[in-house]
Amino acid sequence: MKKLKDFEKEINKCSKCGLCQGACPIYKLTGNECAVSKGKFVMLSGVLKGDLQLNKNINSYLDLCTKCGKCSEFCPAGINVCEILQTAKYEYISKQPFFKILKIFHKLFDTIIRRCRSPFRAKSSGTREILYFKGCVNKIYPKTENALKKILSHSDIKLTDADFSCCGLPFFSAGNLESFDDVKSRNSELINASGADTILTDCASCESTLKSYGTINKNFVNAETLIAKLDLKFKFKKHYKVAFHKPCHLENTDFLQKLMANCENVEFIEIPETCCGLAGEFFIKKPEIANQIAQKRAEEIICGGAEIVLTSCPACVIGLKKALLGKNIKVLNLIDFLSHADNITNI
Ligand code: SF4
Ligand code: SF4
Repeated sequence: MKKLKDFEKEINKCSKCGLCQGACPIYKLTGNECAVSKGKFVMLSGVLKGDLQLNKNINSYLDLCTKCGKCSEFCPAGINVCEILQTAKYEYISKQPFFKILKIFHKLFDTIIRRCRSPFRAKSSGTREILYFKGCVNKIYPKTENALKKILSHSDIKLTDADFSCCGLPFFSAGNLESFDDVKSRNSELINASGADTILTDCASCESTLKSYGTINKNFVNAETLIAKLDLKFKFKKHYKVAFHKPCHLENTDFLQKLMANCENVEFIEIPETCCGLAGEFFIKKPEIANQIAQKRAEEIICGGAEIVLTSCPACVIGLKKALLGKNIKVLNLIDFLSHADNITNI
């Protein structure tokens, strides 16, 4: 496992250009220099030089981050910010007395997720097999999985399963890099040893985390892209005005234009790209800022005029439902929405 010291060169690559400030949802809201990667690197530089202690205070600034990775996207030096911040966090929390309890909790969580066998899970038919990596929410409550199987029953695709662990994002976000490494090795072995050439994901965060392993030698496809490629047509009797919330971890929305064009009676409304405010455990650790981000997101959606907001991450579904509580706007996973079409055809 890498140490903070191993990232010294990477941290020193930061030119303090400040481009990350325009991308960071927390900096944009608070103007707090310590919220964004630039300020965090100044602190971590101080730690590496021995001028600062990696203490509770610095840990609290490390928590002032949704792990959206937007700063890395905009960073001209291409610094992998989240990996550095979480390595620093691991170095702090792994020395704290509660770390052992955190590891037991994460182990238990993964065991429960792996053993989840819902009796309400639909069967998959078809002849062309694709290995399906289910997100944690789907493992417990297979609503999106069943919706996906209903849609894919109009194709030749059959989804196959394996005894996967959680992708590990909750462990990574908490700074428990030991448990993250365990599930990373386990999932990588299962995927690489399978005969599949493609891994299907149903959650933007799972897909981005699996890709971040850097150890999987297969292709990735998310459920939305797969459906768009199948060119299925979705006919709705009732007219719907919908918007799409892009999860921070979703690489692109290239599938959207095709899917919307293939939906009859669905009007698509563009909305800005911002965070829903949930961001894993961020909304528990920094509830005031999380609520402010969520309220801003709710205002943008309400201004857009959509009656349904679609997204492709179960956590964003929860975050948006929370943000839009009491408003007359539905929040749905895009796959669930498509499965409710009155007619699905592959012509
Ligand atoms: S990962 Fe997101 S929230 Fe964290 S510092 Fe970068 S832009 Fe800001
Ligand atoms: S964009 Fe990158 S190089 Fe520029 S200040 Fe932010 S972290 Fe440093």
